[in-house]
Amino acid sequence: MAAIGVVLAAGCGGTPPQPAAPPDPPAAPYEVSAPVSAAVNAIKEAPAVRAALAAIANDEPRAIADQIAINQIPAPPFKEDQRGADYLRRLTETGLEDVHRDKEGNVYGVRRGTGGGPTMFVSAHLDTVFPEGTDVTVTQQDGKLYGPGIADDARGLTAVLVIARALRDAGVQTKGDIVLGATVGEEGLGNLRGVKAFFAENPGIDGFVTIEPGEPEHVAYEGTGSRRYEIAFAGPGGHSFGDFGRPSAIHAMGRAITKISEIRPPATPRTTFTVGTVAGGTSVNSIAGAAKMQVDMRSNDPGELTKLEAQLLPMATAGAQEENARWNAAAEGGVTVQTTLIGDRPAGTQDRNSPIVQAAFAAPAALGLNPALQPASSTDANVPLNLGIPAVMLGGGGKAGNTHSSTDKEWFDPTDAHLGPQNAMLVALSMVGLAGETPVEPLLPNR
Ligand SMILES: [Zn+2]
Repeated sequence: MAAIGVVLAAGCGGTPPQPAAPPDPPAAPYEVSAPVSAAVNAIKEAPAVRAALAAIANDEPRAIADQIAINQIPAPPFKEDQRGADYLRRLTETGLEDVHRDKEGNVYGVRRGTGGGPTMFVSAHLDTVFPEGTDVTVTQQDGKLYGPGIADDARGLTAVLVIARALRDAGVQTKGDIVLGATVGEEGLGNLRGVKAFFAENPGIDGFVTIEPGEPEHVAYEGTGSRRYEIAFAGPGGHSFGDFGRPSAIHAMGRAITKISEIRPPATPRTTFTVGTVAGGTSVNSIAGAAKMQVDMRSNDPGELTKLEAQLLPMATAGAQEENARWNAAAEGGVTVQTTLIGDRPAGTQDRNSPIVQAAFAAPAALGLNPALQPASSTDANVPLNLGIPAVMLGGGGKAGNTHSSTDKEWFDPTDAHLGPQNAMLVALSMVGLAGETPVEPLLPNR
């Protein structure tokens, strides 16, 4: 799974590279049903779509120029405004209707269908993981592009533009509407705030594609949810010798960690936890008056995540109570616990044979690629999946590496990158259906 590890790292969403993360790949080989296969192939062969596919291939030099220009506008977490304003201009130029920036900072517009079909949202994310002041200049060497964010997600943002232009230039008529755009707050402590706001504002969306760095044949259809807490322990503190007999914040936290480390979550659905960081104490000869830890919990199943959290959080309080009891300290003068939620990404899954997953498998096959289902990831797709809305994460094309890295330069190899937007466009079209001279019914049901 080494190659996939690279792609997963690129899948971002605050997910650091996880080379050893054992995925739970589907056991049975994946089969696309005959109706889905027929629909995707009919769409691919429709004259207007053939023209759009060709337009995407021809647009590649301009796409790479866009990708570089977009990347060179910094978009640190919570500071996507400048890139958002530029992207709004770019989206407007593609001829979409009602291009606007919402209150949260998401930028999107709509391409109307002939009516009666479902509505798809195809997007990428504006933000990067890189803090303000990071040099986001793009350099080129041996045919590759180098720069923080050049793949994640400057490639996705570019793919969305390329699709919008191709649909316009080829005059593709769809039955349902396609909303195209970009979200804020996908990475890290952004906690998917953009996509959360989007779906709160737009309850009529029936399906979702997020484009992330990676190869187009890789299909992720499950979202790993996470809940992260900072748990702070506060006590009276004191001198290690003179005040011996007082409860210690560090000892209390140690008791809590001992309990937490014994939790045994299910292997399937994959559910995990870790105490990721600890800090505290004043000096070696002090009874600690303060200590804190950060805890990460993840699951592909929302119910299991809730269960894990309900089991883990009381262990912090129990650790403090035990510590206070050990020293006969009253609760008021003893160690107390404060818990702060610092990360919240909803989990979500769907039937792997749902139409959108089927289409996401059929489209790369139609383009001559070898599709493969991927382990769950943590991206904008988590939010619709959690809401029960069909969603997939698709690769934007080309190859990528060192995403999220602060030490090694993120790179993007544009070889055959046009396959990314071609593939995502085919998936979106199969969802909303074709109108015009060669109609194809939408595969995506209206909700
Ligand atoms: Zn990303």
